[in-house]
Amino acid sequence: MNKWEENIRKVVPYVPGEQPQESGVIKLNTNENPYPPSPKVYEAHRKIEIDCYALYPDPAASELVTALEQYYGLEHGQVFVGVGSDDVLALSFLTFFNSDKPILFPDVTYSFYPVWADVYRIPYECPELDENFRIKPEDYRRENGGIVIANPNAPTSIGMKRSEVEEIISSNPDVIVIVDEAYVDFGGETVLPLLKKYENLLVVRTYSKSRSMAGARIGFAMGNKRLIQALTDVKESINSYTMTMESIRIGAASLEDEDYFQRNLRKIVETRESAKKELEKRGFAVLPSQTNFLFAAHQKAEGQYLFEELRQRKIFVRHFNGERIGNYLRITVGTDEQMKRLFEALDEILGE
Ligand SMILES: *Cc1c(COP(=O)(O)O)cnc(C)c1O
Repeated sequence: MNKWEENIRKVVPYVPGEQPQESGVIKLNTNENPYPPSPKVYEAHRKIEIDCYALYPDPAASELVTALEQYYGLEHGQVFVGVGSDDVLALSFLTFFNSDKPILFPDVTYSFYPVWADVYRIPYECPELDENFRIKPEDYRRENGGIVIANPNAPTSIGMKRSEVEEIISSNPDVIVIVDEAYVDFGGETVLPLLKKYENLLVVRTYSKSRSMAGARIGFAMGNKRLIQALTDVKESINSYTMTMESIRIGAASLEDEDYFQRNLRKIVETRESAKKELEKRGFAVLPSQTNFLFAAHQKAEGQYLFEELRQRKIFVRHFNGERIGNYLRITVGTDEQMKRLFEALDEILGE
């Protein structure tokens, strides 16, 4: 080993789902929305002029921040935006988890959490989900340096009641509790109303799933003004201009089409519920989902095997190794047509 290698930060990175470059793939592996964003987003995009690129964007992303504050009925200074919620979450770990005590998150959850903890050298402990893959709020009563909960959780798809999340927040007044609500629009119970009650709560959301804008990279955090200011200070200590002028404009435009948004959500929830039944008919145990994906294990066929067989048929789903979840597939809810193709492939593989 060369001497200089000792000084390199070594990390084991998060592995995102595959983004296939070939055509004809049915992509049910990264929980993107199968429908396009609102026509208002296209309209806003068309109006962008090429000469804007000579200038830096607004470092405060005010147009987008103000639109979000209005949409959620918050005061000015309660919203922070970033390059996808991964950016917002990474900055939140750096800003709020600054104690020597371990932070807490479940053993089965978004697999980026341990990666951020490692890269920032934050100690962590992972209370186990119960036998039904549910978070036990009482596990979060031990001493800790902060808490992050995805609600609904991924990859389990299961949501907690607001009162259960509140139990975790209220029993931890001395640390910041981050609630990652990436999937909440698909039927979860948001803790947003609790912002008035708890100073230590930060709610994080994304445009990537429910708003059909994964490619635009927009995420945001909502909390009391001191938390948002602390996040902003850390961000401005790294990179002032994170949001491009396009993402600011189209992000704000997306909020102007509530009808389209609600219709899109209803459609996905409908497809999700019918797909759950179809999977159960074929011998899968499917967890109750409040998200835009299903977490399902077949009684006989192994997860890895199904994943590979589907992949050969150009249907991409997600499979995670791991003791408790190795037999499960995480299947994004696509269009009805995409799901039909999935069931046809499963029938072929399972020999129906
Ligand atoms: C998808 C996802 C995110 C990150 O999404 P971005 O595209 O970075 O906004 C964060 N948390 C969870 C639980 C997710 O599933």
